[in-house]
Amino acid sequence: SRVRLREALANLPSYKPGRSAAGSSSADAGPVFKVSSNENPYPPLPGVLEVVEEASRSMNRYPDMFATGLVDAIARRFDVPAAHVATGTGSVGVLQQVIQACAAEGDEVIYPWRSFEAYPIVVGISGARSVRVPLTVDARHDLEAMRDAITERTRLVLVCSPNNPTGPAVHHDEMVEFLKDVPDDVLVVVDEAYREFVRDARAVDGLALYRRYPNICVLRTFSKAYGLAGLRVGFAFAHDDVADALRKTAVPFGVSGVAQAAAVESLNREAELMQRVESLVKERSRVQEALRAQGWRIPHTEANFIWLELGEETDHFAEKCGEAGLIVRPFGGEGCRISVAEPEANDLLIRIAAEWRG
Ligand code: PMP
Repeated sequence: SRVRLREALANLPSYKPGRSAAGSSSADAGPVFKVSSNENPYPPLPGVLEVVEEASRSMNRYPDMFATGLVDAIARRFDVPAAHVATGTGSVGVLQQVIQACAAEGDEVIYPWRSFEAYPIVVGISGARSVRVPLTVDARHDLEAMRDAITERTRLVLVCSPNNPTGPAVHHDEMVEFLKDVPDDVLVVVDEAYREFVRDARAVDGLALYRRYPNICVLRTFSKAYGLAGLRVGFAFAHDDVADALRKTAVPFGVSGVAQAAAVESLNREAELMQRVESLVKERSRVQEALRAQGWRIPHTEANFIWLELGEETDHFAEKCGEAGLIVRPFGGEGCRISVAEPEANDLLIRIAAEWRG
């Protein structure tokens, strides 16, 4: 058509979801495991399914626009004022709200790279300029270089801990050091999509930072540890003015009634869900150790995925995995990200990785 689209969109990559398992079959017709999107491999809890069914009975009505019941449940669970909680359509939806609230044409947004692939897209859509700061050689945030990248145009800094797709968490001490040099009118977003999988005591705790610094915004999600990826519920902790701005930039009714009910029930049943997380954390250690014993160099992961640096071999490795029934996430020329999942999927990864090294 001759429609005049915004120039800012012309060079934007599209978000590439991890391949779905539908229609795939492994060469030996064995089971197919989708480990490409860091999802929770456990099926929904029966109690959560029950409230979903109940909530679906009123889906002819719009949901509570401000997700009041969910916001109150989150506020109680994390001991924060309800006014400091904002929700959105997945944490990527909340991230979009944050960027809409802070950055536009002429502004700069700093983030580490390689990191979550939605960052360049949501920043690009806003019209702001992406300032990508390369990770260190051990695949961690280079906070000194991120600090040096700050200019008077910087409106936002994104910190991803643990970092998707490489796995390491940012440390509390280095973050406090970094924040000393961040102007207090720049918002620092700590994206903690994988927070519940973190076991390293040195890791940053976004919630503790938010309590101490008015310019911190923490992103959390029900997609990973809570197993609700398909329902799209994310939330943020931020101080009054920022949280208000997040409510203003939200898509109206962006979290469905079904999703709100499932998220509240997941908080009620958190103990059971966290036992599942604990099993995944144990599997993570097992996979990490097995791969290291095979000679792989893996960045230390605090998330529910493993990063294999494969360079030019990346696509070939992903293909081999696919043939064996393991759908991984290749980042061409760099490496593969593989979710830690059910033991059978993890065993398959260990086997393929061993064969690869010969
Ligand atoms: N942040 C990071 C670092 C992620 O890896 C993801 C999901 N891949 C998200 C945010 C978004 O998750 P959701 O929108 O499902 O909450």
